[in-house]
Amino acid sequence: MQYVGRFAPTPSGPLHFGSLVTALASWLDARSHQGQWLVRMEDLDPPREMPGASDRILQTLEDLGLTWDGPVVYQSQRSEAYSAALETLQNQGQAFPCSCTRKELAGLTPYPGYCRQAPRHPERPLAWRFAVNPELTAEWLDGVQGLQSWPLSQLGDVVIKRKDGFWAYQLAVTVDDLEQGVTQVVRGIDLLDSTPWQINLLNCLQPDTRPFHYSHLPVIVNASGQKLSKQNLAPAIETRNASELLYRALLALNQPVLKDWRKENPHDLLNWAVSHWQLNRVPRVAHLKEESIQACTSTD
Ligand code: GLU
Repeated sequence: MQYVGRFAPTPSGPLHFGSLVTALASWLDARSHQGQWLVRMEDLDPPREMPGASDRILQTLEDLGLTWDGPVVYQSQRSEAYSAALETLQNQGQAFPCSCTRKELAGLTPYPGYCRQAPRHPERPLAWRFAVNPELTAEWLDGVQGLQSWPLSQLGDVVIKRKDGFWAYQLAVTVDDLEQGVTQVVRGIDLLDSTPWQINLLNCLQPDTRPFHYSHLPVIVNASGQKLSKQNLAPAIETRNASELLYRALLALNQPVLKDWRKENPHDLLNWAVSHWQLNRVPRVAHLKEESIQACTSTD
């Protein structure tokens, strides 16, 4: 089967070092399998977006030599596909309208099922939730984190359409991965606990599909232990230091690196990295401190 991987950034800001590590790992994994690598902009939440961020992200990928295949898909233009998927779930009795507010659910995880039979306050704006299969335990052999086993009953019914009308991540990502023929998902460990929902959704939307292969990478944290993110203002990466950035990202992924990398241009560095890529060298941890990357990883 043809390998199809993808990178799916949310354009709430430019790429930072953490997102570069994710992009690079999924690119290397795809290219080392002669696979395709797709880019999808997860622009589902206009209030969280930064104007111009999508173009800037694409420019950064291009400057680094992380080339993608086919047209970039924008989730903001995929509403019809998400509506069709919601309808499928509704027809199967696997989606229900929910009137619960954040306040009513404070401290209650998983979702206690208040609206599973009918919305408690049908006069309010309604979200839609996916009724998970509480009997299901999602199991997969994660390419980085090893064997995973997650009972859906512990995760509960998840929102797939928000009450403000925006589509929610879990539905959109599943519909798009399916439709784009993705076979391998390589992304940050912060999404590990989303995978069981996506596996369950996949089963419902296309029961005969082969499950994807998942690999969850450690996320890069700053000195105070916070994930580098656009929200906590991680600095945007500067591609004029492309070789150095790629070198540091390879170190974070515990890959062998050329000693004289400084002499290499980004293109040659990437080619070398593709031929030496080993997913099983990526540290099986949740967090990597950005500041410790230079000090504690091995080089060839
Ligand atoms: N859009 C998500 C993010 O930027 C990634 C989604 C995914 O890879 O499944 O964190």
